[in-house]
Amino acid sequence: MRLVSTSTLEGLADHLIFPLINRHSVREKAVTGGASPILGRMLKARLESLIPAAYGRLAELMGGFRDAVGKAIASPVMRRRFWETVLEGPIAERTLSGDNRAAAAELARAIEGAAAENAEAPRGEVYLVGAGPGDPDLLTFRALRLMQKADVVLYDRLTNQDLMNLVRREAERIYVGKQPDDHELPQGEISALLIKLAKEGKRVLRLKGGDPFMFGRGGEEIEALAAEGIPFQVCPGITAAIGASAYSGIPLTHRDHAQACVFVTGHGKDGKIDLDWTALLQPRQTVAIYMGLRNVEALTREFITRGAEPTLPAAIIDNATRSNQRVVVGALGTLAAKASAAELSGPAIIIVGTVVTLRNTLDWRPAIEPWHSDENSRLGAPSGKD
Ligand code: SAH
Repeated sequence: MRLVSTSTLEGLADHLIFPLINRHSVREKAVTGGASPILGRMLKARLESLIPAAYGRLAELMGGFRDAVGKAIASPVMRRRFWETVLEGPIAERTLSGDNRAAAAELARAIEGAAAENAEAPRGEVYLVGAGPGDPDLLTFRALRLMQKADVVLYDRLTNQDLMNLVRREAERIYVGKQPDDHELPQGEISALLIKLAKEGKRVLRLKGGDPFMFGRGGEEIEALAAEGIPFQVCPGITAAIGASAYSGIPLTHRDHAQACVFVTGHGKDGKIDLDWTALLQPRQTVAIYMGLRNVEALTREFITRGAEPTLPAAIIDNATRSNQRVVVGALGTLAAKASAAELSGPAIIIVGTVVTLRNTLDWRPAIEPWHSDENSRLGAPSGKD
């Protein structure tokens, strides 16, 4: 039974579903029938049975008022927002529950109201969103919703292609990452760009790897917005150490091993690593080191010099949670040599502590050969800090 007209379905599929499917690149090949017509037909049938018939009525209502909205609201950004409000509010509810007449009357009133307000400039806002360490399945629902709402996205080297495929297709994409061995793109410039775009009335998505407030400078980027009175939201993400822990089978705490875990940066200025070693060398504590791959030799040496046993287990999780994840396990005395033999590319997390031994029994993730490695490469240049 066909519940929704094919054109409605295709419209919906284009806007909502294909971006999701796209991340495994089945769209071109399977959905359009190239690689597997059977899979294509099956997906279409699934979509048809998932979308209630009432959406067909909603599509009709919207189609009937399209020209009126076009005349009343000149700005495309504002038009899109108008339709979003309609879809998220009582007008859509009325249509879905079958009261077409009331819905049409309310929509006509809403269009009149929008035409009156239209003189005002649209109000922009900024979404500071943590995209997690790379596996798109680790996004939050809220992150995905904001990614689908954005007019423009500012992304950097930690945002891989799989994640970018989930950003609204029409959104403008601006790369603000940094080059290897270069210093960060001046924070001031990113903040100024965020402010400029928001003042143009755009919904600006600032997408960050992991969590935006964990070694992510997210706070600095939005301080300037707060000063300008620009509205913003912050959406947390799974930070790299947490993703690395789960996807390598190394719990960061465990009653038999560690009751505390510290997150530190191993990024040293001019080769000097400035860490509070007394705090790091506490017993029954795990240390998770961000930005430490380049300094792994100096870091592990320093641990030992300060009194840690060279046999203390340690691991490096490279490209954690992505399909090209690699894990190198050793001890403080051996890790640097193993890492250099493995030629890890970064980004990578280093975990130090006896919890690393738990991987022997808790490693659950099969080693997967990337089957679409081009999709997994980072968009930007390799990490400057790893
Ligand atoms: N805000 C980010 C961290 C940014 S600092 C977060 O919460 O995860 C950049 C560092 O994060 C990298 O040098 C690396 O140590 C770590 N990192 C980010 N993504 C990673 C990944 N997929 N695998 C391993 N480490 C990662």
